Parts: sequence; structure tokens; C-alpha cells
Amino acid sequence: MSEPILSIRGVSKRFGTLIAVADVDLDVARGEKLGIIGPNGSGKTTLINCITGVIRPEQGKITFEGIDISRMPTYQRARRGIARSFQIPRPFVGMSVVQNLQVPLDYVASGERDPAGALGILAAVGLETRADDPAESLTHLELRKLELARALAAEPRLLIADEVMAGLSEQEIDEVLEILFTLNARGVTIIMIEHIMHAIMRFSTRLVCMETGRVIADGTPQEVGRNPEVRRVYFGK
Ligand code: ADP
Ligand code: MG
Repeated sequence: MSEPILSIRGVSKRFGTLIAVADVDLDVARGEKLGIIGPNGSGKTTLINCITGVIRPEQGKITFEGIDISRMPTYQRARRGIARSFQIPRPFVGMSVVQNLQVPLDYVASGERDPAGALGILAAVGLETRADDPAESLTHLELRKLELARALAAEPRLLIADEVMAGLSEQEIDEVLEILFTLNARGVTIIMIEHIMHAIMRFSTRLVCMETGRVIADGTPQEVGRNPEVRRVYFGK
């Protein structure tokens, strides 16, 4: 691997006596499509929160593009190119779709307004025809797309998608996958956390499985799918 875009070393996070993330080491290559699976409560979201800076691990070091970001606040990590799409879409109500996008655009660009930029991002996720509609009129799928658009406003080089496909139909899952494939083809490294197994198997070129805060398997989707410990965790055998 050439220099990884993201490097996690010895990261641990406790909540009281519970060790949510236990001494995790993980490298992500530039341009990679990395999937993270694991049962509920295995520490996936906590690890992501450590990467984005929402929570501070007690131990460990996180390096992004060669720079130690471990002590940076969330907004600085965002400005450096780390974006995250949330499990639960939270649009600003009372604002149009394009206005929803303008908020993170203003935040990142600090000043310059570029309406063409916002429309370009909406087009990238297939929401351009909805630009002037109120955010609260969006369907479930469109809300997911708006979430992705908001993450893209920061022109990220790393996009973390945490269960963005939950509750979507098969066809909608395909649409979101297509968007993520396109972004990846444009050079965005993507970490996908997902319970929808066929989607994450199809998307990922590499899969990591977590259990009780630890990485228990790391390899191709086929290798991880065959891994005895992974099978034990998922199927109890
Ligand atoms: P996953 O995303 O894999 O489902 P999480 O990272 O959300 O898992 O949770 C890992 C463990 O940490 C779980 O046992 C969860 O209950 C616990 N946990 C997560 N966030 C908090 C928190 N803010 N306070 C206390 N415990 C938490
Ligand atoms: Mg989670």
C-alpha cells in the first residue's frame, strides 16, 4: 500500500466500564471502497465518531493524509476533507433543498457563494429537479440523497456512509450504490458501514468485520464472508 489516506493506530474508546472500541489498527488506501460490518453494538459508529472527531478516544492516533488529526475539532477535520453521511437524515425544515445545501457550502467555502456549485452537487446525487422544493417534501430516498449532497458540499476526499441504505427498497439501494460508485470513480475514498449485506458485498473491494470493539477480520468480501469467526458472530457457528 502506498501512503494510506487514513491511518488508525491503537484507538480505544470506553463508555464507563464498556470498551466500545478496543485498540483498533486500520489503514485505508486512497481511492479504496472499504466496507465495515459487525453486529449491533460492535463499535462501528464509535470508531467513525473517533475519525470525524465527534468523540475523543482515550488512546491512539489517527492520521489523515499524513497529518495527525487526533486532537483536531470536527470542523477542522471536515475542512481537511473528511465527510460523513448520517444514519438519520436531518434536513433543515422551512428551507428549500438548495438552501439546505447552501448551509454546508457556506460553512466550508467561508464566504464565496456559488449557486452553480450547489446545483452541480444536487445533479451528482440526482436531486437537481427538486432544488427549489421544500426539504420537508422529500421522500425517504431523496432525504438520503440530500444527506449525501450535504456531505459532498465539503468536497471530501474521504466519505463515510454510516447505514445510509437502511429502510430503502432494492431499487433505491441500487440508486444510492450508483451514486457512491460514481463518487468513488471521481476519486473519493469511501468507507461504508451497512447491515444490508448484499449491498456492502457488492460495493466493497475490501471488508472489515468488527465485534466487541475489535477488528476480527480484514480482507476481500469473499475472504471475510468465509472467515469462521465472522460466521460464528453472524450465524452462531
Ligand atoms: P455499532 O455502530 O457497531 O452498532 P456503536 O459504536 O454504536 O456500535 O456502539 C458500541 C457500544 O458502545 C455499544 O455497546 C453501545 O451501547 C455503546 N455506546 C455507543 N455510544 C455510547 C454513548 N454515547 N454512551 C454510552 N455507550 C455508548
Ligand atoms: Mg452504528
